[in-house]
Order: sequence, then C-alpha cells, then structure tokens
Amino acid sequence: MSLSKQQIHISRRSFIKKMSAASSLAALSPLSISSILQGSSDDKRIIVVGAGLAGLSCAYELDQAGFNVILIEARSRPGGRVRTYRDSFADNLYAEMGAEYVDSTDNFVKQYCNTFGLKVLPAKQYDGVYVRGRRYSMKGIQSGTDLLPFEGIQKGKLFGQEVQYIQKWIDLVKQKGANSPEVLALDNMSVEEVLKKGGAPKDIIDLYTYTNATEATSVPSKMSALYMVLANSRTSAFSENTVEGRILGGNDQLPKAFAKRLGTRIKYSRSLRSLVFNSKKITANVIEDGKRTSIKGIKCVLAIPASILRTIKIDPGFTSGKTNSIQKQEYGHVMKIAMQYRRRFWDDNNSIGQRVFTDTSLRRIYHFSIDQPGPRGILLTFTSGEDAKKLGRFNENRRMKVAQKACKDIWPESPKYWENGITKYWNEDPFAKASYSLAGVGQKGYREILAKSEGPVHFAGEHTSVHRASMNGAIESGLRVSEELKRAL
Ligand SMILES: Cc1cc2nc3c(=O)[nH]c(=O)nc-3n(C[C@H](O)[C@H](O)[C@H](O)COP(=O)(O)OP(=O)(O)OC[C@H]3O[C@@H](n4cnc5c(N)ncnc54)[C@H](O)[C@@H]3O)c2cc1C
Repeated sequence: MSLSKQQIHISRRSFIKKMSAASSLAALSPLSISSILQGSSDDKRIIVVGAGLAGLSCAYELDQAGFNVILIEARSRPGGRVRTYRDSFADNLYAEMGAEYVDSTDNFVKQYCNTFGLKVLPAKQYDGVYVRGRRYSMKGIQSGTDLLPFEGIQKGKLFGQEVQYIQKWIDLVKQKGANSPEVLALDNMSVEEVLKKGGAPKDIIDLYTYTNATEATSVPSKMSALYMVLANSRTSAFSENTVEGRILGGNDQLPKAFAKRLGTRIKYSRSLRSLVFNSKKITANVIEDGKRTSIKGIKCVLAIPASILRTIKIDPGFTSGKTNSIQKQEYGHVMKIAMQYRRRFWDDNNSIGQRVFTDTSLRRIYHFSIDQPGPRGILLTFTSGEDAKKLGRFNENRRMKVAQKACKDIWPESPKYWENGITKYWNEDPFAKASYSLAGVGQKGYREILAKSEGPVHFAGEHTSVHRASMNGAIESGLRVSEELKRAL
C-alpha cells in the first residue's frame, strides 16, 4: 500500500492547484466558509474524525484523489500524540513530548517526510546504564567487562535477556509456524507467566520490566507471551542496537505539513460525542464551542484511539466483537518529562553519557537537544508502566522533584545547572487517555477486528495497524482506509 514515486509526484502537482483553492477559501469570512460546506452535498461527504497522523494521512490521500472530505479534530492543533513543545524552553529549544523516534524500517513516515521535504537524522544510542544504584558504560556491558547486577543474565547485552528462557517456544515457532495452534495458545499466557514457566529468575522479569515492557508502556503480567515469542523469533526484535532517527527540527512538522495541505477541510475544536448511522448516511454529533452541531455524510472514518472511542455513543452500535475489542483493548501508561539545564554537563569527562537506560522511575533519561544549539540543553525522560502511573498521581511540582532527584543520582552536579521543566502524562490527556495500544493477554484477534469496517464506518489509528504503537502504523492505517474508501465509492 505504499505510495509509488509517480503517485507522490502527481500528488505534489495537484497539491499546488488545491493550495490556491484553499487560500482563496481562507480569505472568506467564517459564514461564507460554512455556507460552502453546507452547499457541498452531504451524500458525497466523507467525515474523518481525528487529526492524528492516521486521520491526516487518510484525509490527505482522499482529498488528493478528489473526494469531498471534512476532518474533525477535538484539539486546536493537528498531530494528536505527535506533540512538540516549543514555548516551554529558552533559546528556541524544543522537545518531543509524544512520539519521538523514526526507526529505519518506518517507510510510511520516511516516504511522507520525503514528500514534504523533511529530514530524518539518526538519534543517539544508549551510552550509559544506571541500575540498582550503580553506573555502567554500555561499552563495558557490550564487551562483557561489566556485568549487570541481575541474576540469570548473559554477558554482552542489555535487551533480550529473556530469550534464553523462552528458547523452546522460539523453536516451536520455527518447527510449527507462527499460526499453529500450539504457538497461538501462548496468547493465553502473560510474559511473566511464560518466563516463570521457562525457569527465569525474578530478576529477569524485573529487567524485562525496564527493557521491553517499558517500550510497550506496560508490565510483564499484562503483556501477551505470544508477541514476545514472535518478536524474538525474528532477527529484528528491539534492542540497544536498534538504529532510531528523529525528524530534524521537530516531529510536529509532519502533521503540520499534512494539515497545511488540507487547509480549511480540517475543523478544529470539534469533539465527536455520538455517531448515528444506517447503510445510506451518517450523522456525527459534535460539540463546538459548548454547543452541539451535526455533520452529515455518506461515510465516516474513526481515527481516534480505542481509549476514546469507548466513550462515544454509537447508534445503532457496532457488532459485539468490535464493541468488545474497543472496550477491552489494552493500553499502557506513559509520561515524558523535559528538563532544561543551563549547561550540558552530561558531556563532561566523568559523565556516564548522554543517553542512559535506568531502573529509576524515569526509566530512560537522555539528552534530547543533540541537534539544537547550546549552551543550554534539554534532558528528556520516557517513563512508563507502573512508574508513570505513580508519577501521574503527583502534582507537577512533585513530579519534577522526583525527576531532579533521579538526575542528581546519575549526574551529581546536575542541580547546579537546573532551570525548569515540564511534564506530559498522556493518560490524563482528555483526547488520548492512554499511551498507545499493546497486545494484551488473550487479545490475539483484536487488531484485525478493530481495523474492519462496519457498514459505512471505517477505522484507522495505530491500534488498527500491524505496525501498532507508532507513527508509521498510524500512517499505514490512514492509507489502508483511504484505499478501502476509494474502492467502496
Ligand atoms: C509518549 C509517547 C511516545 C511515543 N513514542 C513514539 C516513538 O518514538 N515513535 C513512534 O513512531 N511512535 C511513538 N508513539 C506513538 C505514536 O505517537 C502514535 O502511535 C501515533 O501518533 C498515533 O496516531 P493516531 O493518529 O493513531 O492517534 P492520535 O495521534 O492519538 O490521533 C487521534 C486524534 O483524534 C483526536 N480526537 C480524540 N478524540 C476525539 C473526539 N471525540 N473528536 C474529535 N477528535 C478526537 C485527538 O485529539 C487526536 O488528534 C509515542 C506515543 C506517546 C504518547
């Protein structure tokens, strides 16, 4: 479903034509814009809900193909869980408080970055480890001169310590195939259970909490064993060696680029409350400036997280399988904390490094502003699972105290240079209420069910994608739905 070069070329040319139409629309008064919208016929309109990367990419592709699209967004900005804070720091520094990394395999993201002239630069890899109160260098761990203080580990690596305890299931995948009943049965067990069954000591489960479970924003007892075994049956499971990139200048440029091209087709500050549909038409009931309005169309794309979709009234309701998956889809907890320091002390000679893996409640702490001019710099943290939940119960002041203390433990001189900081806890965000989706125990078929259209309603969003929990997955889902609609109409 990826776009060919030729398609991109055609899109760019037709965009120029559309941009002039959009700018002439923008010059009209709000009244005349709404009368134009009313004038465009309801029986042709596609209503896309949610201007995250899923909804944006879907609306963009439909718009480029000449469909009548309207994109409704609850916030006053595009991007959803892609969120770059630009006003919170001095010297024009910025920080990613939502999605950050573009992996080398994230082809959908990279393709649109190309289209919009955005550059992806490599990020820094881990160079330090701070666990159980001690500092280690990643080089020391990888060369085997430093041994992590966890029982049952193997020398030479940080991630993937669980593999030796699940080898018999990895072999089973190789012998019987990923879709065999024996392998699929692993979905009924949690990561914690299967590790215990494989003889892993508690320390290995603890370490998994800080490695992969932190990436998934969850805990080993809530994660399906099936996906851990499948991930390790491939050669590409996430590790300290994964090469990650970031969009130079900030990830928000990608959603903004889509939004710019969609122009007035996006309606901000409109929150979907209920959806009424039959086989011929759809009415989306929306709150705008505290007042209820209705938007009618022929098709609808719900590109909002399942954590929000479960709060929307649907009449006459979806199938029981879909409703069940929407209600139960597992999500994690995540908080990011950005701290501005006057000086980049993490570059000093005696420093543990710039990107540190920890078992503190901050989990990952790293120099974010690597490609931004100093002398000031930003340390960013990625806190997830139970620690994010715990910090989420604290007020901003207390969260920041915990963060400063963890940084002091790692870089004792850090308090001298601290200036200010800010947190973003996604589970308290009214339009996300969660981190991102994960494969929960017993949730094997959920993703396919969540992705399947029901009557005139189509579903996009990272939770519907094979590349879930990523910007790449969000875009992949948007493209999938745009193709579904092109075929259907
Ligand atoms: C802290 C954090 C770190 C992450 N790190 C990475 C990373 O490093 N790399 C990566 O690739 N991905 C990362 N992700 C995941 C990535 O951000 C998401 O997978 C992706 O952005 C989801 O896009 P989406 O369009 O599916 O959903 P969203 O971005 O959530 O978009 C949904 C949109 O719907 C809107 N909406 C919600 N309710 C309503 C309503 N009732 N009416 C109208 N609109 C509504 C929301 O405001 C939002 O704009 C991270 C996410 C978080 C939170």
